[in-house]
Amino acid sequence: MRNDDSSPPPESGSSADPDRHWFTRRSTLVVGIAALAPACLAGWVLTQALSGTGPDASRSGPAAQPASHSSMAPGQRDAKPGSTPTASPTTSPTTTAAAPAPAPAPAKGPLTGKTVVVDPGHNTGNFKHTDEIDQQVDIGTNRKECDTTGTTTNSGYMEAEFTMDVSKRLRTALEAQGAKVVLTHETGARPWGPCITERARIGNEANADAVVSVHADGVSAGNRGFHIILPANVKSGAADTAKIVGPSRELGERIAGNFARTTGSAPANYLGGGTGLVVRDDLGGLNLSTRPKVFIECGNMRDAKDAAQLTSPEWRQKAAQGIADGIVGFLGG
Ligand code: ZN
Repeated sequence: MRNDDSSPPPESGSSADPDRHWFTRRSTLVVGIAALAPACLAGWVLTQALSGTGPDASRSGPAAQPASHSSMAPGQRDAKPGSTPTASPTTSPTTTAAAPAPAPAPAKGPLTGKTVVVDPGHNTGNFKHTDEIDQQVDIGTNRKECDTTGTTTNSGYMEAEFTMDVSKRLRTALEAQGAKVVLTHETGARPWGPCITERARIGNEANADAVVSVHADGVSAGNRGFHIILPANVKSGAADTAKIVGPSRELGERIAGNFARTTGSAPANYLGGGTGLVVRDDLGGLNLSTRPKVFIECGNMRDAKDAAQLTSPEWRQKAAQGIADGIVGFLGG
């Protein structure tokens, strides 16, 4: 949503909330199980070492296999505590050659050698972790919430579901053009977040050639269309966007044009003066980026006509293709 870093989350979550009590108990249980895990693992490692069938034993055998996962027998790769690896230490190179072929090489294309970081806005788990995402983080210019819940359509389709779906489609489209693609988080991989500071850091540390944060807006009905948010020129604390303002604008303009073409959507009718471009200085994800980066608000989830598009898988594919085409244009494809 547009006011990502400033709007209050829909759920206030008082301590009388029964869901919250349930969650606290569940957390305690998880912590308890986590505390037991190292002891179990230690026991297994000891057993494997004594029996001589552990992963290290098979690697140090007379005909040790390459460490690559693709050359490992299924039983070896999926070995669980207590099981016996199926690969024999005497496995010959000829047997290894008959193993399943390695994964196909990445596609060659206009983005070969380029790295793109795709940031699916919010996280479906944020609604259950308001204490965690409300923690304040330093975005250079000021302090803000670590992350926000995002918005939903009137029928309950979450912005975080939308952003993850479009991001995965975008990843597929970019990889088909040869790009290396990094998502800032994956479905279910973490219960909440990441914080906006970490989202920015992932793009920086990947030395991304382009970064796109995917969102949908949540404003009143009748406001329609998409817009791209560009970083303002800010310099304060860890925020210094001077070097990315220019290239980020070019990236944003490329995406705006292609997104309008593939989706048929118009630039937002409620901000940006019909350009589909807005500059903001209050988003940590932009202020802390050292790589060319934009946010895209794909439409307004609270408008019935826009929501009908946002909830359509076919439309989301067009949206992802438009963003991908814009990135290809920006990176010189
Ligand atoms: Zn958002």
